[in-house]
Amino acid sequence: MTTTTALTNHQVRLAKRPTGLPTRDVWSFTTEPVREPADGGVLVRNLAISLDPAMRGWMNEGKSYIEPVGIGDVMRAGGIARVVASKNPQFKEGDLVSAATGAQEYALIEAAQARKAGLFKIDQRLGTPNQWLNVLGMPGMTAYFGLLDVGQPKPGDTVVVSGAAGAVGQTVGQLAKVKGCRVVGIAGGPAKCEWVVNELGFDACIDYKAGNVRQGLKDHCPKGVDVYFDNVGGEILDHVLAKLARGARIVICGAISQYNNMEAVQGPKNYMSLLVNRARMEGMVVFDYVDRFPQAVGELAGYLKDGRMKSREDVVSGLDNFPEALLKLFKGENFGKLVLKIADA
Ligand code: NAP
Repeated sequence: MTTTTALTNHQVRLAKRPTGLPTRDVWSFTTEPVREPADGGVLVRNLAISLDPAMRGWMNEGKSYIEPVGIGDVMRAGGIARVVASKNPQFKEGDLVSAATGAQEYALIEAAQARKAGLFKIDQRLGTPNQWLNVLGMPGMTAYFGLLDVGQPKPGDTVVVSGAAGAVGQTVGQLAKVKGCRVVGIAGGPAKCEWVVNELGFDACIDYKAGNVRQGLKDHCPKGVDVYFDNVGGEILDHVLAKLARGARIVICGAISQYNNMEAVQGPKNYMSLLVNRARMEGMVVFDYVDRFPQAVGELAGYLKDGRMKSREDVVSGLDNFPEALLKLFKGENFGKLVLKIADA
């Protein structure tokens, strides 16, 4: 077993609750000695952590689908890590695992926390460590269950997805294509739009930064929108509401345009379209589907293998860069799933 007593852990902690964008001053950087695991525990070294828009919500006080990160706590984050010491017979030194490891170099996952931390060994035959943070990880699970369970697409349906070149969006669009749908993405900028059409096989993409989303929906969804997978909320949601087909399903996955608001969240104005079109709008939280993750991983890994699914990750290096890297999500500067690399594999 590796000697762990000489190791130092570097951590990113939430120093205060942000107002608006979470700038560097809301974080503190700490060091502490690494401790040995007790019986049933494992000590892991983070290779990479996932940076997620949801982190912004976890920084707020108040009731949500998960408790907020406490002031002074290590920031919650999902990671891919290598086991450096184990007192759990299911894991051995050198294993690669996925778990809620936090924004830190080392994570001690004691026996009692293993389930809550979602600790499991990853199978590198199915995907790379970065893909286990993307299509085979939480964003991919969100795409899979949000689209299939909540969106219920049928072959021939028109599926629109916003945040199309991001982590969740890239998998939603490709999965909808696999299921025989016509797919229209919405993304910021020509490079992202070009990628989802030319590389991922979407039928069209609307560059919302170039202007007219309404016209774009009219051009690319002549029969209306059957499924809208909403990652962004705000004005774009209103434009799609105005273009629904009869019986449409809107998956409320996220509303990143609203996460750093200093004013009240902007709700949909065109909601009467739900009535007129006998449509429904439903929220989903990926953690509700944990028991079915293996089914989704199996299916998505199959598409990765047979080439029907591609994945793109945007990797930033260094724990010290955590604050600026996180901001990329809210500025649309990430191209693909945003990953923070912490150590070499
Ligand atoms: P992502 O799409 O990889 O990154 C965020 C993207 O959002 C940015 O790259 C940017 O892309 C876009 N964006 C940022 N500000 C925007 C604005 N004001 N208006 C429109 N677009 C904006 O992130 P992700 O991890 O895949 O997450 C996507 C959404 O899913 C988020 O809302 C997240 O909270 C949600 N989510 C929900 C669950 C759940 O269980 N419900 C789980 C995971 C994620 P552009 O360059 O295209 O603007």
